[in-house]
Amino acid sequence: AKAWVLKKHFEGFPKTSDFDLKEVKLPNLKDGELLLESVFLSVDPYMRVYSRRVMKEGDIMIGTQVASLTAYFGLLEVCKMKPGETVLVNAAAGAVGSVVGQLAKIGGCKVVGCAGSDDKVAYLKKIGFDEAFNYKTVKSLDEALRKASPDGYDCFFDNVGGEFASIAINQMKKYGRIAVCGAISLYNDSVPQKGPYVQVSMILKELRMEGFLVSRWSNRREEGVKALLKWVMEGKVKYHEQVTEGFENMPMAFIGMLKGENLGKAVVKV
Ligand code: NDP
Repeated sequence: AKAWVLKKHFEGFPKTSDFDLKEVKLPNLKDGELLLESVFLSVDPYMRVYSRRVMKEGDIMIGTQVASLTAYFGLLEVCKMKPGETVLVNAAAGAVGSVVGQLAKIGGCKVVGCAGSDDKVAYLKKIGFDEAFNYKTVKSLDEALRKASPDGYDCFFDNVGGEFASIAINQMKKYGRIAVCGAISLYNDSVPQKGPYVQVSMILKELRMEGFLVSRWSNRREEGVKALLKWVMEGKVKYHEQVTEGFENMPMAFIGMLKGENLGKAVVKV
């Protein structure tokens, strides 16, 4: 079988030369085992973070199949959104963000999202976001967030972290909840970014900020899949897949996703 191997640990943005395509011999099947052939593979931001922590050079690249319940549990269990509230989500046109916005609409909330291109912003409006803007072209992020919701935000589903999060946290309403899902703006940094710091807003507005891993709810997977499938079949949740053809193009698909080239879920068709 073919496997992508991590040739060299990533420095900053991953490069195609950091990977090697190898032929590996699969172990013989034991009694009771079965061999599955992958049809689609997922490329995800966590692969950038975990590669440094769990892999050594020469290891086969980590990865999983496609299924992500992150939006469902993060919004319901961490943000604990209520009807009538205002929800903010960034990286909103991606796999997680686009579902967060649509679930918040189903839950009776006003939804504000931002993404890194005008096409993505148009897509967000098409799938029901109340307000959407391109964070790369606005003059001031602070102003854009204020314009989208002058009263501030009850829930903030943060996929990006860093400077964006610091600015958004200052615009939370009293008792607001922040779900720290991801920090993609920091994943490729060789040198950690510095402040600004958010503690004063956290104290004065009595905010709650909680990080989470979706694996916390692995025992409720079936519930999440059933709920999402029902909404997809009813047309209440729409999805888009950015399909890259060919296993040999997996590094390019992974790097492209980190650079924002994907709309919706980035997958590789083997
Ligand atoms: P996406 O499909 O959202 O793809 C990543 C997107 O991030 C890109 O398309 C790009 O969109 C955006 N992005 C990249 N760099 C930056 C930046 N510097 N600033 C702002 N946006 C940026 O990926 P996923 O939906 O799979 O993941 C979204 C987030 O959720 C990630 O942070 C990931 O780590 C996290 N996650 C967390 C899980 C958990 O259990 N806690 C599980 C799964 C995902 P754009 O064009 O808008 O810039």
